[in-house]
Amino acid sequence: MTPWRDVMPRQALVAGNWKMNGTTAFARDLVGAIRDGVAATYPDQLPGELLICPPHPLLQGVQALLANSPILLGGQNISEHKSGPHTGEVSADMLHDLGCRAVILGHSERRSLHQESDALIARKVAAALQAQLTPIVCLGESLQQRQNQQTLEIIEKQLSPLLPLLRAQPQPPSSWVLAYEPIWAIGSGLHAQPEQIQEVHAFIRQQIQQQVGATIASQCRILYGGSVSPGNAAEIFALPDVDGGLIGGASLKADSFLSIFAALSTPQTISNS
Ligand code: PEP
Repeated sequence: MTPWRDVMPRQALVAGNWKMNGTTAFARDLVGAIRDGVAATYPDQLPGELLICPPHPLLQGVQALLANSPILLGGQNISEHKSGPHTGEVSADMLHDLGCRAVILGHSERRSLHQESDALIARKVAAALQAQLTPIVCLGESLQQRQNQQTLEIIEKQLSPLLPLLRAQPQPPSSWVLAYEPIWAIGSGLHAQPEQIQEVHAFIRQQIQQQVGATIASQCRILYGGSVSPGNAAEIFALPDVDGGLIGGASLKADSFLSIFAALSTPQTISNS
């Protein structure tokens, strides 16, 4: 089968999800080191897009630290609503106003700890698109679902409410990002095997191709997330349907995050181990 990347190139992306970590001092040190590392290593052109998603209270400070840097800023969640009586919530427009270009949606921690349904996530995706934010929508199965061989069924169920939005959206589909994050690989130190990752990524792209169209399928970026590290990133990023990574723990250390980003330009041969 011809890899989609050969049909239409997609810009690779490495996104850091800080989750609920960090203080202003921590952000200053970490973002300063990442920013300076990027400037020193890539004076002309980056090997892809680099995105940092800190917690909401740190967004404004991080945005200031990233002034004149090619590094992009994103959020970790939004409300489905535009404004109004929703105490404690943050709207897509607010993130856009703070300089965010993207937002992570449907992370498994939001799905499990905050009871976010596929339908709610689809409404948040619609809110993000309306505010010109790129949605980074996470999909993934639990260990039990994988052991029961339900992985593709779960991915199809999570993906299905998103497809009408993808079909209807006026923006270029390259502004969409999906992230395959097997729940059992998140924060566990146990990343999925290359063949498991490629199977799910190719399945996602095939679903989009069949239900939305070949051009859009070839333009959507699909990230892998789940215990990506400097040691495994190059092998994962070399897979034909992987367009970069969503990084949790390793995004909290400048050297790890920069090494993972550098792996975009050093793809390796896929091993069977
Ligand atoms: C995540 O939470 O999105 C994630 C991928 O975490 P980690 O890299 O720590 O597994």
